[in-house]
Amino acid sequence: MKCPSCGCIDNSKVVDSRPTEDYSIRRRRECLECHKRFTTYEIIDEVPISVIKKNKTKEIFDPNKIISGLRRACYKRPVSEVQIAGIVSEIEADISNSLKREVTSAELGNMVMAKLKEIDEVSYVRFASVYREFKDVETFLRELKMLTENKQ
Ligand SMILES: [Zn+2]
Repeated sequence: MKCPSCGCIDNSKVVDSRPTEDYSIRRRRECLECHKRFTTYEIIDEVPISVIKKNKTKEIFDPNKIISGLRRACYKRPVSEVQIAGIVSEIEADISNSLKREVTSAELGNMVMAKLKEIDEVSYVRFASVYREFKDVETFLRELKMLTENKQ
């Protein structure tokens, strides 16, 4: 990465980063040498992201799985397809930006839950109940109680 102002190489930090529609990431970088800012479009690494599941097996990160999970959780809730797609692309970008090539299914689930919680709490609880496989009604109610208490 070369700074267009002073020409120094690989001496910049990312100040903002967001996915574009054509599988690249738009990054605002700041040169640590001359402090000028510039924009780059970086192709998302071809290396796919692997998800390590609970039973230690790996599978390729599949955004469609998250989308279908989210659709189920958001059924008849005021959450649009655009918001669902937004959650998924944010998560993909977060993983790409972290430069990790592997995430555990637990990390992935937590990322989804954190984003969903801000959009719609009912959908969040639904997603969490499937995802965390609440063993009994009590665990489920505890989660609900935590949610309501956090609000006050
Ligand atoms: Zn520079």
